[in-house]
Amino acid sequence: MILISSARFQEHTTPPGHPERPERAEVFDHVAAAWRDMGGRVAEPRPATRAELLRVHDAAHVEAIAGTSGRAVMLDPDTFTSPESYEIALLAAGAAVQAAEHALETKETAFALVRPPGHHAERDKAMGFCLFNNVAVAAAAAVARGLSRVAVVDIDVHHGNGTQSMFYADPRVLYVSSHQFPFYPGTGAADEVGTGAGKGFTFNVPLAAGATDADYAAAYRTIAGVLERYAPQLVLVSAGFDAHESDPLASMRMTTAGYAAVVKSLADTARRIGCPMALVTEGGYDLDALRACLDATLAGI
Ligand SMILES: [Zn+2]
Repeated sequence: MILISSARFQEHTTPPGHPERPERAEVFDHVAAAWRDMGGRVAEPRPATRAELLRVHDAAHVEAIAGTSGRAVMLDPDTFTSPESYEIALLAAGAAVQAAEHALETKETAFALVRPPGHHAERDKAMGFCLFNNVAVAAAAAVARGLSRVAVVDIDVHHGNGTQSMFYADPRVLYVSSHQFPFYPGTGAADEVGTGAGKGFTFNVPLAAGATDADYAAAYRTIAGVLERYAPQLVLVSAGFDAHESDPLASMRMTTAGYAAVVKSLADTARRIGCPMALVTEGGYDLDALRACLDATLAGI
């Protein structure tokens, strides 16, 4: 396992009281420092290239985010930039690509600890704290290397509307998500299964508010079967930890141990398939729960 992270992720700032705050990057720094102390490796990310972004975002969106350089801008009621945000968002997307490349090239699991998160960002707009869709940029990079079966498993409590829509018609990327439903952003019903050639390559597991470790364990047994049938060449995990019982935004009741078990079940499935895995952080807004989930995840896979 290698971590990919940078102290620079603190430089993307949001207005006071915003849950997606720079202190989340301090958690990443603590986790990375503890990892180093145990002899683990931590790599600095590189920025995503324009070509990498343009695989999933349109040019107008990339220009719009680039245009916020040096400025604080409200992009939607939840989503803000600070002067450094463009640069930091490039690093977040680059870290995700790097994690995927590392996993493919070495077969070793890689975990990118990044902010801002990515899975709500759409082809043409920022949304829900997300500027560029980090995991989607990584999935598209894997496809560009010639892979024909990339699975994205989204364990964040919110549905990854952006990731789903980017690959909705594309069988080369299977999008699987468990999420609180109905809830923000509104998408992710079980009957959203893909379209055209992509039909059957989107798999949503909507869960009612209050879902427990047992509910999640059951969901991930089903998801393991879906992954085994797809036989991906790479598993990417959108690793949001906001289904934790302590999270201030959502209403699920997962414990730290439950989250670690979900990630371990994905890692075990990937191992069984003989497929590398890379993880990229998404949400997780209780700082203690975020730290605990990251530590437990790293210890368990
Ligand atoms: Zn979330």
